[in-house]
Amino acid sequence: MRSGADRRELLLHRCTAGRHRSSTYFKVVRILAARGRMQVVATRVTAAESAKHPYRAIFHLDCFAKGYVMADLPTPGARSRELCGTMAVHHKLLQQSESYRQRSAMFENRALAYEGRMRAPMRTGPITIPVVVHIVHNPAFPAENISAAQVESQITVLNQDFRATNLDRVGVPTVWTDRIADCRIQFALATTDPDGNATDGITRTATAKTFFSAEADDVKATATGGADPWPSDEYLNLWVCADPQTAPGNSILGYAQFPGGPVDTDGVVIATTCFGTIGTATAPFHLGRTTTHEVGHWLSLRHIWGDDGSGCSGGDLVDDTPNQATQNFGKPQFPHLSCNNGPNGDMFMNYMDYTDDAAMFMFTTGQSLRMNACLDGPRASFLVAARAPAGDLRPAVSSMAAEATPGRGEAAAPRSVPSTNSSSSGGAGAVADLEGEVALLRSLLDEINGVLARAPHWSAPGTR
Ligand SMILES: [Zn+2]
Repeated sequence: MRSGADRRELLLHRCTAGRHRSSTYFKVVRILAARGRMQVVATRVTAAESAKHPYRAIFHLDCFAKGYVMADLPTPGARSRELCGTMAVHHKLLQQSESYRQRSAMFENRALAYEGRMRAPMRTGPITIPVVVHIVHNPAFPAENISAAQVESQITVLNQDFRATNLDRVGVPTVWTDRIADCRIQFALATTDPDGNATDGITRTATAKTFFSAEADDVKATATGGADPWPSDEYLNLWVCADPQTAPGNSILGYAQFPGGPVDTDGVVIATTCFGTIGTATAPFHLGRTTTHEVGHWLSLRHIWGDDGSGCSGGDLVDDTPNQATQNFGKPQFPHLSCNNGPNGDMFMNYMDYTDDAAMFMFTTGQSLRMNACLDGPRASFLVAARAPAGDLRPAVSSMAAEATPGRGEAAAPRSVPSTNSSSSGGAGAVADLEGEVALLRSLLDEINGVLARAPHWSAPGTR
């Protein structure tokens, strides 16, 4: 076997030649591995070298003859430019599931009512969503079993981005600073598992797999080499794995399932190299924004360019984001014009574009409204979060109680009312029941107000 130094030299040689970029090499590796003809050497090269390599496996043809393959951690820098697999999942579900089509249509009606200001979010204070992170790792690549600190770094980014406390929001052009939204959504690692036991909100599953299919959703089930989800009406399931793909060899950064889909696959998948801000997180996707983007999808947000190729007809179903032709990459310069959207152009610094992590820093008010419509609708179970983590970050219960105050009108309750923070509550079960009742009543009131708003000339029953 060659020495480590030799392997590194070969690695650099092959990188310069650039021939490892072909997916054909992956097929060769898999065939050789299946036949037991190669030995995978998990070599951790320096970050600088690693950053040059677009794919998971990096190897030299000479090594094939000797039965050796050198492998390094995946780096996403030059991966397929289809960075996110969410729309592929969406189209698959639309084709396969009548109930998904119906639920999607129902939600769009709700979102439209919110966008038209005919309905207002039920919630005025912040909500905290319990998160479970399923780390699915291949022991041949020890770094894939990421640290708890790396997981926590991701939760921190989510909380900053969804509360608009991210420091880089100062990069938003002044023409759009008034659209920066505090979405009032927070995240905390779960402290109680589905069986009621204490947990750190992290599961760790060893797998023999080296890549996962968004089409098959194999990372989301133990039976297929992944990890089973926790109940998706109580937890946001985040799976972190080495190499999610939309097609063989077509690696992506991550993907989400929009609300209304099957519960067994509900959640978000993120590549190990794009998760959090430390450890395996690798530039230019090293600031946790892939997860911000995908959780935006999980809460119903669409890509900001409208997923219509490079056309100008598609939209993101949000009214305060400019029409935009196609996705942006890297770090564009403001203004970047398309679709006659001058003088300000594309809002490429929005989390729902494809720009580098260091170049995206905002959700808009309209996007926040759509996500909150989602939390009032298909993800309303989180409003009565029975397993909300204890401590400061459990405002969902207190804000629900505040909203239940008699006399406050639904439509007159925009997001200006600060949440109360009554952390003291006894009789948790009874309180939860009461909150469930309140949520149901408010939902009914919400529906009635929506109908009345659309048909203002209706007479009350029996008074015709
Ligand atoms: Zn996306």
